[in-house]
Amino acid sequence: RHGCLRYDQTMTAAAGRDLAAPHGWALEDDLRAAIGTGQLSLAYQPLVAAEDGALRGFEALIRWRHPRRGDIPPAVFIPIAEANGMIHAIGEWVLHEACAHAMRWQWNAQLAVNISAVQLRTSGLPAIVAAALAASGLSAERLELEITETALLDGSDQVVEAFTQLKALGVRFALDDFGAGWSSLDMLRRFPFDRIKIDRSFVMSMQSETRSAAIVRTVLGLGQALSLPVTAEGVETVAQLTALRQLGCDQLQGHLIGRPKSKASAPSRQPWAATGCPDTVTPSGRRG
Ligand code: C2E
Ligand code: MG
Ligand code: MG
Ligand code: MG
Repeated sequence: RHGCLRYDQTMTAAAGRDLAAPHGWALEDDLRAAIGTGQLSLAYQPLVAAEDGALRGFEALIRWRHPRRGDIPPAVFIPIAEANGMIHAIGEWVLHEACAHAMRWQWNAQLAVNISAVQLRTSGLPAIVAAALAASGLSAERLELEITETALLDGSDQVVEAFTQLKALGVRFALDDFGAGWSSLDMLRRFPFDRIKIDRSFVMSMQSETRSAAIVRTVLGLGQALSLPVTAEGVETVAQLTALRQLGCDQLQGHLIGRPKSKASAPSRQPWAATGCPDTVTPSGRRG
């Protein structure tokens, strides 16, 4: 009523603090204590080929089990960590932990790690990624960094330089939650992304809303025009899976295929059977 207010991530962080304050506990202090005390862990969600369900890799997703409050979702604590700078310590831990885990997998699956734009804005990220790769022995080609479109991903020299250095290491980039944020097309123009991930909200409504279906088709066309493979997130039904396969989507992720689990494991259910495609989800990528 009093004008225009532009959202920025510190508002979510402030909301998190407001949420915690009346209960007499400070999320922020607890998060500081959580780092290095085993309260943080990683879950892994499978990424599969849309064509035949072959396992391609896993996305690492952070989990925080608070000793008294139980599980606190990353959507609540990551924005707080971004606002107060703790994201640097957390992000470094995630990279080391995920790369070390990936080396213990029995096959050379891809590893996707979420990176906050805040991490990219400081000069240290390429060195941190290089150190995580060196410490684990993981080859850079197996690592894909996922970045959510955000106002923080500006064209500043710092960000462009970090991007360039990381690409030179051989690491790839995915543009996460595509379509849900803002200036996504500009992002694709300015940065050499290697993959687009369509936001879950479009996939979830593509069967019920013709507009969502049109947007999904258009993003897939955009990926084709830019020669970028597209991953669909949030695939929950066989109808979505079938439609995405028919539309030529490259990769699928979602509860239908596999939920995030504490250990990387091949999906046990085989939703492809329902589409008339041979079930092929095996760790080695071979037909089984
Ligand atoms: P994201 O990177 O887009 O990750 C996908 C989110 O969708 C995950 O939520 C996952 O559990 C959820 N998901 C996957 N399939 C389905 C589905 O079929 N249905 C529904 N309803 N949800 C599904 P999660 O784990 O709560 O993570 C939320 C966000 O937090 C992530 O979104 C990512 O932006 C951020 N995040 C997670 N881990 C990290 C991390 O290590 N570092 C940073 N910087 N951010 C992280
Ligand atoms: Mg992601
Ligand atoms: Mg996403
Ligand atoms: Mg997301």
